[in-house]
Amino acid sequence: MNQKKVLFHLFLFLSISVFAQQNITIAQPNGCGSDNYLQILRKDAAFSANELNMNKQIRLFNASNEIIRQRTNATNNNGKTTYSVSPITGIISIPVVVHIIKSNPESVTDQMVIDGIKELNDAFAHQGSYSSDPLGVNTGIQFCLAKTAPDGSLTNGIDRISSYYENIDVDLESGVLATLSQWDPAYYANIWLVSGIKGEIPPTIFECGSWQRVGYGGYASAGGGLVVSSLSGPLVAHEMGHFLSLLHTFQGQNCANADCTLDGDLVCDTPPDRSTKSSPCNSPENSCNTDTISGPFKKDVPDNISNFMDYGSPCPSVFTQGQSDRMHAFINLFNGGSLLNSNRCNLPCTDAILAKFDWYANPHPMIGDVVSFNNSSTGASSYKWYVNGVLMANTPSFNYTVSSVGTYIVKLVAYNTSGNCTSSYTGNVLVDCGVVARFSPDKRIIASESGIYKDPVLFQNTSYGATNYQWFVSDKTGATFSNAGNTKDLLYDFLQPGTYKIKLVASNGSCVSNSNTYTLTVLDPKPDGALSVYQVSCYKTDSIRIVFGINNTGYDTLHAGAIVSFYDKFPGAVNPQKLNNSFVLPNDILGKCGAVFTQIVGVSKPKQDSITLIFDEANVINELIESNNTVFKQKFQFRISATPADTIVFTNSTLPLLLINNSLDPISSIIWSPNIGLSCNTCANPTLNVTDTVLMKVLANSSFNCTDSAYSYIKVFPIDISLDSTSIVCFNNDSLLVTVKVCLANGYKRLKKKIEIEYFNNDFNLVPAIKLGSIFIDSNTVFSNGCVVVPAYIKMTLTPNVFVAINTSLAQFETNTSNNSKLTKYTPFKLIAQPTDYDAYRGENLPITIINQGDAYKNIIWTPSEGLSCTNCLSTIINTKINRNYKIWGINKFYCTDSTYVNISTYYRSHLALPTVFTPNGDGLNDYFYVIAGKEVVSVNKFQIFNRWGQKVFESNNSKPNEYISGWDGYYKGKIAENGTYIYYILITLLDGTIEEVKGNITLFR
Ligand SMILES: [Zn+2]
Repeated sequence: MNQKKVLFHLFLFLSISVFAQQNITIAQPNGCGSDNYLQILRKDAAFSANELNMNKQIRLFNASNEIIRQRTNATNNNGKTTYSVSPITGIISIPVVVHIIKSNPESVTDQMVIDGIKELNDAFAHQGSYSSDPLGVNTGIQFCLAKTAPDGSLTNGIDRISSYYENIDVDLESGVLATLSQWDPAYYANIWLVSGIKGEIPPTIFECGSWQRVGYGGYASAGGGLVVSSLSGPLVAHEMGHFLSLLHTFQGQNCANADCTLDGDLVCDTPPDRSTKSSPCNSPENSCNTDTISGPFKKDVPDNISNFMDYGSPCPSVFTQGQSDRMHAFINLFNGGSLLNSNRCNLPCTDAILAKFDWYANPHPMIGDVVSFNNSSTGASSYKWYVNGVLMANTPSFNYTVSSVGTYIVKLVAYNTSGNCTSSYTGNVLVDCGVVARFSPDKRIIASESGIYKDPVLFQNTSYGATNYQWFVSDKTGATFSNAGNTKDLLYDFLQPGTYKIKLVASNGSCVSNSNTYTLTVLDPKPDGALSVYQVSCYKTDSIRIVFGINNTGYDTLHAGAIVSFYDKFPGAVNPQKLNNSFVLPNDILGKCGAVFTQIVGVSKPKQDSITLIFDEANVINELIESNNTVFKQKFQFRISATPADTIVFTNSTLPLLLINNSLDPISSIIWSPNIGLSCNTCANPTLNVTDTVLMKVLANSSFNCTDSAYSYIKVFPIDISLDSTSIVCFNNDSLLVTVKVCLANGYKRLKKKIEIEYFNNDFNLVPAIKLGSIFIDSNTVFSNGCVVVPAYIKMTLTPNVFVAINTSLAQFETNTSNNSKLTKYTPFKLIAQPTDYDAYRGENLPITIINQGDAYKNIIWTPSEGLSCTNCLSTIINTKINRNYKIWGINKFYCTDSTYVNISTYYRSHLALPTVFTPNGDGLNDYFYVIAGKEVVSVNKFQIFNRWGQKVFESNNSKPNEYISGWDGYYKGKIAENGTYIYYILITLLDGTIEEVKGNITLFR
């Protein structure tokens, strides 16, 4: 079991190992009671109105003076905008009178007072032992022990009163000092130096079984005066700050800084501060983060703990420029600037005389006493004594009989020899019947109740001159007093909480004195166990681990043995089940204190996710509050989740996975599965190389050995096969070579199943189609860059289309088949002569080009080769004198062939070109005589040849021109005709239908 004692006021963080301790005790044993004193003064409406008005005027005064300051852009180390401040043109001197209120006031010498004022001046000038902190400024305000008394004569600014009021009770007697001695506060700063101030600076706080009570070092009010228990420089500087209107730097204790002239201490260059606690000089606390909301701070800075107006600093040494400004404004405004212009720091005359007297021999005279005034003046040659303003004597010493109750104002005026310089000293002689009832409680707030926790208060009797005492204590409502005893001091037990009034009657014979009445608050001291749950965790699957605190918010001790019970449901649920392992408080917990525990309890069912803690279920403890004994917590089970929970990605992509811990318990181990493609299977954030749809499971263990799992469902986009391009060529005359590009989308590089590519002569979706062939792509085929090129040889088709379809059986699952087929037109390999028949002039060039359709030819051959410029070209030039027929044969690179023909007919350019000689000697040249004609000659109707004897040796009818076989071969009746001249007669039909007759001679020559 783990118990840590913590202060009740702590903030408790969820992590049980971290506790921030904030002790509220004020380190300085003697604090400043000005705030409490102001609360007392503010009960007077006129005082409050004056205070508000003064603050308003100071604000306006400082705002009008702001224009003489020039802001600079500089920001100093403290994050503060710096000002160029007008140099101090003159030192303001405030006259001070020190009233030493002691039973032996001579124990404080003049030199001690002078030294105290020097310390005060060093503090205000930021010099001497106060000069080192750069945050401080010379305020330009100094203090002098008054040299001019209220009546205008010489004084040293010190008076001494022997009085039992050297210890005053701030709650009961705060007003009494002014009745002992006070100089006009309009012209003097009155400092009352006493031996001790009894009281507690509120708020008094109870912590871990005891009260933290802070005593008084001093108190002051603006323009009123200062009460101090010593002449310590920082203490007097602090209270003098209050006298000159400064507030504590932590004023309000709320960090408010909406307007630095209206919030906190009303001073802008002291950072917002809510803390009264002490922190090291070199490591100041930063209690507020509101610094930059208004005012000169450009960044959040620590509290100015070294400020005279802060508490508890071991190194008080700073008034800031803003505080200086506020004090200057106050001095200018207070009572019309009377302090500023009082001139009481100046010597009214220069003679070394000083009036002084005392009545220490009988400092508290009764009616009828003769009071002897002891003249201890120096430098004087004559004196005058006054009582209540009436001249009573001019002797060095003076006796006076006091005849009635009251205050006698006795004044001594001492004269120099010339009489033009005087010094005066005044004393208030308080006369009564000889008894003053006084007391002072040792505690200002308690918690007490009969049978629970008794905290008796000692009322210390500080009465003067009494022989009999009677104490009266009211009931708990303060309404009815009853006799509480007649001992000197009263030790009183308050048996019920309430608001009590206490008073003392002191007497000596017929002289009776009534004390002021003290009001005491008595709080209910009952203990109170308040539960707080800091952490609940699943523990080893079958238990729950609970870190909880028991805070005693009451005053009395919570004793060991108190029980915390655990239930599985919220209070009021049906059938809550009590869990094993109730907690038993092992040690006492003092009032306003707390402790943190860890308890492990068994679960009522697996993954139980709610728990109720009940403190003191049996109600055996009498608590202040019962309603804070039950705490319900739920949703603390160890739970994880995984992201992405459900996603779809491309295959072969990389996906980051993330385990998310939805509980506060740390994770001790992680396992992802299946462990395929993971960068790390024991990390919270592995990456996964996704190859296929997978359900990833992650299993985690908490640091307390509980398990949870989560899933990440990762799907991949399915394969999408597409047909990208198709080329078709003729192959070997009976086949086609079809090449297709098949691609895989969505990141795939392989098929999972083999697929078929099918080839048809038409789109089978539209018309009946004949399958021309098929081929398979294997599942181990690698699609580099996502694609593969597949050639296939299929049957020749006569349709000019090939329809390719892939994966028609969906052997490989895919969702998009719209891109799985393609209809491609193709053109067969073909050679075409267009036209096939040509007319050519004999011996002239005729260019002819053969058209190559479909695949490009690889080789082409013209036969016969005669008369051709090129025999293996698509384009050639023909030059022939006779009619010819050419065959053109070609082949593509895949052995498909085709051929075509051209017919060339030759002609002469004129009608007839008949020779004059022919030589039929069988040499192949000019062996026939025939009709050579231009192409406009359509036919030779009649061709007759006669010899010189008129015999017809040859005749042909209706032949074609330009055909030698239709001509005469030189034979007549089977014999070679004799050489000689022959006559021919030709009848021809022309293209236009006209008939022409031609006659001529030809010589046969052999
Ligand atoms: Zn103070």
